[in-house]
Amino acid sequence: MEDFEEMEMPTPCSCGEWFDLTDGFASLPDIQTTVCEECHDLQLEIEGLKEEIEELENDIANGYNKRENKKQLNCSKKDLKKLEDKYISRVSGF
Ligand SMILES: [Zn+2]
Repeated sequence: MEDFEEMEMPTPCSCGEWFDLTDGFASLPDIQTTVCEECHDLQLEIEGLKEEIEELENDIANGYNKRENKKQLNCSKKDLKKLEDKYISRVSGF
């Protein structure tokens, strides 16, 4: 993803931070958008949790370690909600 030419362009992130476009990251939900490092980190966490939740749901559907996995699934969903709220308030609260 490092083929953003040599632009030294200050770019506003949707969270209100400015960053040099060359230091930006492709946004995970929408790769046409470039976001700052902090938003990127948050997006990575959210994506990681989503994957975890998907795996847990698969395991549960397959009857694997159901009890533990359901508990874990509940926790992960709560964490995901928190992170998503954090992200939403980050990008809409400036
Ligand atoms: Zn940002």
